Amino acid sequence: MKFFLLFFCLLLLSLAALADTVPDYAADKIAENSYVIHGPAGFPSPENKGFMNNPVFTITAKSVVLIDPGSSLYTGEMVLRQIKKLTNKPITHVLSTHVHGDHWLGNHAIKNTFPNAKFLAHPEMISQANAGAADRWLKIMMDMTKGATKGTIAVIPEKAVNDAARIIVDNYTFEILAPKQAHSGTDIMIHIVEDKVLVSGDNILNQRLGRLDDASFRGSINACDVALASGAKIFVPGHGPTGDAAMVSTFKNYLSIIYNSASELMDEGLSDFEMKPKIVAKLKAFHGWVDFDNQIGKHVSLAVLEAEKASFE
Ligand SMILES: [Zn+2]
Repeated sequence: MKFFLLFFCLLLLSLAALADTVPDYAADKIAENSYVIHGPAGFPSPENKGFMNNPVFTITAKSVVLIDPGSSLYTGEMVLRQIKKLTNKPITHVLSTHVHGDHWLGNHAIKNTFPNAKFLAHPEMISQANAGAADRWLKIMMDMTKGATKGTIAVIPEKAVNDAARIIVDNYTFEILAPKQAHSGTDIMIHIVEDKVLVSGDNILNQRLGRLDDASFRGSINACDVALASGAKIFVPGHGPTGDAAMVSTFKNYLSIIYNSASELMDEGLSDFEMKPKIVAKLKAFHGWVDFDNQIGKHVSLAVLEAEKASFE
């Protein structure tokens, strides 16, 4: 009887441990020393436990540089497990592409294992996170995953990096591109020069749409142009599969169709409600993207607001 009780307790304990674990996702090699762990598409949920972004890492001569280790302590731990399969080198730098918590709350796990790593982000990311965005995002993740991210602490980056900064780590150069007012006003893109890889954060999305509530359409279109001019050949979007320059142009096209159509139709006196079906008809190539149906109305409204503001400039 005692044995069964012990067995039962162990079973419960292991189930409780499992509840906090994000299952392994493979690290896909995209260049000589750079890898992406492509997260599943969609919004944070109890099923994905909040993991739905694209963590990226580069193994340099003596170190590992990590970008966006995900949305929680548990996603960060999963990322650490994948890195460990490839190298025992220490993580020395962790970059956050922007303030949205699905990209950086995983910093907690990295800090636990590599307390000396440097955490870097755009100055505006750091100030917004400290001014309340960190707590807001911890709560958003808890609510959307029904508690699967519980125990996560916000490890806010401390070192600010802005446009044109170059971070040299051993044999690799990480060039920072920070076009103003793109996806969130807190964005950096990272050009991993030797591997010709550009990590865009949510300035570029592929096959999946997301919230653009903090975005500028014109700024995001400009960010696509900056990405295309970087010299990179491989582009890692914030969400969705890695692609080439054509993938960047495709997303730029999505933004341009919505913004330009909204401006034109606004001049014709249409409300955003009336515009929506006309704009949706022009976006056939995107109808299959994850979350198209639940985001397009919002995106059109945001484009109208921005076009209205622009007409007063
Ligand atoms: Zn975002």
